[in-house]
Amino acid sequence: MNLQKIEDGFRLILEGIGEDVNREGLLKTPHRVAKMYQELLSGLDGNVKEESVLETQFTENYDEMILLKDVPFVSICEHHFLPFIGKAHIAYIPGERIVGLSKLARAVDFYARRPQVQERMTCQIAGLIQKSLSPKGVAVVLEASHSCMTIRGIKAQGATMVTCQLLGLFKRSEKTRAEFMAQIHR
Ligand SMILES: [Zn+2]
Repeated sequence: MNLQKIEDGFRLILEGIGEDVNREGLLKTPHRVAKMYQELLSGLDGNVKEESVLETQFTENYDEMILLKDVPFVSICEHHFLPFIGKAHIAYIPGERIVGLSKLARAVDFYARRPQVQERMTCQIAGLIQKSLSPKGVAVVLEASHSCMTIRGIKAQGATMVTCQLLGLFKRSEKTRAEFMAQIHR
């Protein structure tokens, strides 16, 4: 990531809105903004490879649903570059292997920290679990509040966007799906 470019760009925004880029309070703002984007968009860091996120796996004879719910995330809407903030619920029914729960949270973070749309992020998380673990089913639900909708535009305070991707058993079996939905809304 080129921090200098972000700084220069943000200085242009300040000039564009008619601010004095040299006044005390704004002097270091372009630098702070660049560091902030570096943190918020750290998923773009090429050092972490997609296929390594869920690498640590264990063989286990467990064939019921494994659910991790209320995983907090912050992502950036790629259309307005404002944050959308919410929770992810992830479930899978293992095939032969399971993965550490913290790794699932890492997968959420990995896809959140980049310019995103919620629909794509939902599919990316489910897709990675499917690809990495070959489970019998995967379910991912994201619930988020989008700043681009709550603080600007329609100003729909309190509106939540819910997206869902179901694969395998969660798609085929109404019972499995119902169990998942009941668990996450308990
Ligand atoms: Zn937006």
